[in-house]
Amino acid sequence: MTSLYSIGYNLYNMSNETKKEAAKRQYRRLKGEVLEHYSCFKEGKLTPGSPQKPYCASCGEDDLNALCLRHDSSEGTIDRKELGWGQKFFYNLQARGYPEGFQVLCANCALKRHKSL
Ligand SMILES: [Zn+2]
Repeated sequence: MTSLYSIGYNLYNMSNETKKEAAKRQYRRLKGEVLEHYSCFKEGKLTPGSPQKPYCASCGEDDLNALCLRHDSSEGTIDRKELGWGQKFFYNLQARGYPEGFQVLCANCALKRHKSL
């Protein structure tokens, strides 16, 4: 027999799951927009011949899950304190009009670059 308690519990769980999925979609959309900008735009204009989707500047990997945004300089820790992490980081980059000094790399190329510095 189904009790009201179990119905409420299931709805609560479904609601939370829906919220998580919505948050994931929003994060992916925001990350995709920001990485696309840094991959495909130079000085606010679409780069000719650009694939119009984010890709690694070093090897060309285009899996959004494997891509990250790296600082061109070693001043990353200063900017990270100002810009935050995760979704907040991407949101702040958009809000500031995509400041210069960032590069899209895949996790492997970012690690290789970090080890070579
Ligand atoms: Zn790469």
